[in-house]
Amino acid sequence: FRMITIENLHKRYHDTEVLKNINITIDDGDIYGLIGRSGAGKSTLLRCINGLETFQSGSIVIDGVDITTLQDKSLRELRKNIGMIFQGFSLIDRKTVYENIAIPLECWHIPKPEQKERIEKLLKIVGLESKRDQKARDLSGGQKQRVAIARAMVMNPKILLCDEATSALDPKTTDEILELLLQLNKEYGITIIMVTHQMSVIHRMCTKMSILENGHCMVSGDVKEVFLEQ
Ligand code: ADP
Ligand code: ADP
Repeated sequence: FRMITIENLHKRYHDTEVLKNINITIDDGDIYGLIGRSGAGKSTLLRCINGLETFQSGSIVIDGVDITTLQDKSLRELRKNIGMIFQGFSLIDRKTVYENIAIPLECWHIPKPEQKERIEKLLKIVGLESKRDQKARDLSGGQKQRVAIARAMVMNPKILLCDEATSALDPKTTDEILELLLQLNKEYGITIIMVTHQMSVIHRMCTKMSILENGHCMVSGDVKEVFLEQ
């Protein structure tokens, strides 16, 4: 079924149009690629999807819910279902691996024993059991992104948004992180959106994709077909 339907989406900052009539549909369990140059509007589109940005017209329906109709409380519920990771990891450096992963659980007042259970399971999945008490600042880039992935997954979201998640990593580490994301998609069926400017990431990960250019969606479709058209 459809996990995300974006229709006729327009987004302006002051008098600059940054998203112009975007139409994209993403099925449950897809790994969907969004590619385009810096400034194309990719991050803005992700922030619209997770309800961090408002938009002037159009609609975004997520898991059957039109997010434009949501008030604050339900918007918070929506965000619980959407994890996000970034190029710069956005960890709290002075906190440990364990504490970083616990942040969303604390926000949602999940009882400590359940926190422990969820965090230990995720530490195993991302391969950081031995690092649980290390400060985030002492980790390598790849390890930091693994912590960020665990933190993004800890509320069991249906959707994971990845904003240039491997752009700060070397090729070998990039490979390992992409492999981990593929594993999460396969095992938990999580729907993933990969925002990137790297074709190689799209080729490795995605079945469907859109190309954004200057706020326009130039083409959407199966990765193979889109590349044939280019
Ligand atoms: P991308 O992620 O593809 O690099 P962005 O979504 O970050 O693109 O940016 C798209 C355009 O919107 C750029 O021209 C950027 O300068 C502009 N923009 C992004 N955020 C803001 C903001 N908060 N206020 C004004 N303009 C913004
Ligand atoms: P990206 O890696 O997505 O291109 P940017 O460096 O464009 O990121 O943007 C970083 C932050 O600055 C974002 O939160 C974005 O909203 C904000 N931003 C980008 N462009 C502008 C702008 N022209 N005016 C105000 N804020 C902006």
